[in-house]
Amino acid sequence: MPFSCRIRFNRSKEHKTPQMKLFRISILCIFVTGCTLAQRPEYTKQDTLRGSITPERAWWDLNFYDLNVRIEPDRHYISGSNIIRYTVLKPGQTLQLDLQPPMVLKRVTQDGKELQFSSGINAHFINLNKPQVTGDKNELVAYFEGYPKVAQNPPWDGGFSWEQDPDGQPFVATSCQGLGASVWWPNKDHLYDEVDSMDIRLTVPKALVGVSNGRLLGIETGDRTRTFRWYVHNPINNYGVNANLAHYTHFESSYEGENGSLDLEYYVLPKNLKKAREQFKQVPAMLEAFEYWFGPYPFYEDSYKLVEVPYLGMEHQSSTTYGNGYQNGYLGHDLSGTGWGLKFDFIIIHESGHEWFGNSITERDIADMWIHEGFAAYAENLFLDYYYGKEASADYVIGTRSHIRNDRPIIGLYGVNQSGSNDMYYKGANMLHTLRQLVDDDEKWRQILRGINRTFYHQTVSSRQIEDYMSEASGKDLKAFFDQYLRTTMIPVLEYRLEGKVLQYRYMDVVRGFDMPVRVTINGKEQWLYPKSEWQTKTLKQPNLKLEVDRNFYIESRKLENT
Ligand SMILES: [Zn+2]
Repeated sequence: MPFSCRIRFNRSKEHKTPQMKLFRISILCIFVTGCTLAQRPEYTKQDTLRGSITPERAWWDLNFYDLNVRIEPDRHYISGSNIIRYTVLKPGQTLQLDLQPPMVLKRVTQDGKELQFSSGINAHFINLNKPQVTGDKNELVAYFEGYPKVAQNPPWDGGFSWEQDPDGQPFVATSCQGLGASVWWPNKDHLYDEVDSMDIRLTVPKALVGVSNGRLLGIETGDRTRTFRWYVHNPINNYGVNANLAHYTHFESSYEGENGSLDLEYYVLPKNLKKAREQFKQVPAMLEAFEYWFGPYPFYEDSYKLVEVPYLGMEHQSSTTYGNGYQNGYLGHDLSGTGWGLKFDFIIIHESGHEWFGNSITERDIADMWIHEGFAAYAENLFLDYYYGKEASADYVIGTRSHIRNDRPIIGLYGVNQSGSNDMYYKGANMLHTLRQLVDDDEKWRQILRGINRTFYHQTVSSRQIEDYMSEASGKDLKAFFDQYLRTTMIPVLEYRLEGKVLQYRYMDVVRGFDMPVRVTINGKEQWLYPKSEWQTKTLKQPNLKLEVDRNFYIESRKLENT
């Protein structure tokens, strides 16, 4: 999902001394803590049903969805069926399916026989008649229809976008991250379990083209409609499934990548064809950079696609949706304020980064969404690194610190479908950039990033798994490091005092055991310091020198006056 940029661009830069800043942060913390206590959201049974692995979900493992949807733009209505194939992991006779009102779950069948079910608000509990025997592969069919929720602010507040293109033709798209795919079709709406592959059939008015994920296998033409059959060869998360309808035109090319020839497919409005041919030249450039850093594009069998939509864009798997206006930057703006953000099309680079982090490697719980957004935001600067060098990429990622709020921890609450702070984007990216400094070996760092993609390829994972992997691969105990940046809102402060030739230094505002080494320059000479919470002492060769912390480390520093 793109960063939700609510703040104004070109803000005047405030001049702040570290002390003022610290004071402001303390005040803010008190304020935020106070607010949090006063307004702590109450989590309901609905949140638990949506966000946890309930007993009615745990006993069966998803294998396959065969989703069939008829979309009627003239009356904003959809209807269809989803065939759900699953393996029985342990006996269970009640199965939870999710579909949110105003969509209606009409009926559910198994082996052609009608099943009874009871409905909560979003969760429906299906009573299965035949015994569910461990190891069996079973199938049920869920029929649905209704007027789906209209997207209010897609893709952040999603649903259906029923728009028109400039020629008055329907221009329709879905988006549903966070909200969940059950906003438009019935499924097991939790990230931990993915189907191994999926069939998607979109039936749309005859004049329109229906684009979804994976490969187009065929088109069936009816009297007034056409059905586009798409097939996804790989595991896919629910929110990655999308339906897009427009009077699309199509062009294609290919890219010779690490796993052979990758088909590139583009669906755009006819009037934008020329602009798209030019702007989408960034796709091969993106693939070259990301395959270098992360390893092979994870969905060669399904092709890579960009599909024009009437909202900013979204990381739909093998079907990245695009609405950035065929221009560089984030709607023409540079999120970093350094100029480097105008060197690339934000949606092409950020959303495609999610093919590796988000689509191939998916969080098991939305609380760990930084695995998607932290790495995708970090990927923006790796793209710059590949083409413009290390300093440019550092300028960019450091520039994006202006978006960090430290309002809440990056990791949210588990089990209630609750993501953490929006800081998951640029604090996440700056945490990873800081970690690169600690590894202090760019080739090793690249191999860690590629190793993550190999190890967790096409899996759902927890933050802990990624953290443990990075600790092991880097040979460093990063527990306190990750706890500090992911689980608190505190930014480490390096406090130091210079008295003659004696340098004293320590960390403030850190979790127990936080002892991250930091690169500093003392009188023009670069060296490492090893601060802890307790004062450390170092004797310098000359008195009264100037100390500067390397800007690549996301910490603050504070010089204390001598007593
Ligand atoms: Zn994103």
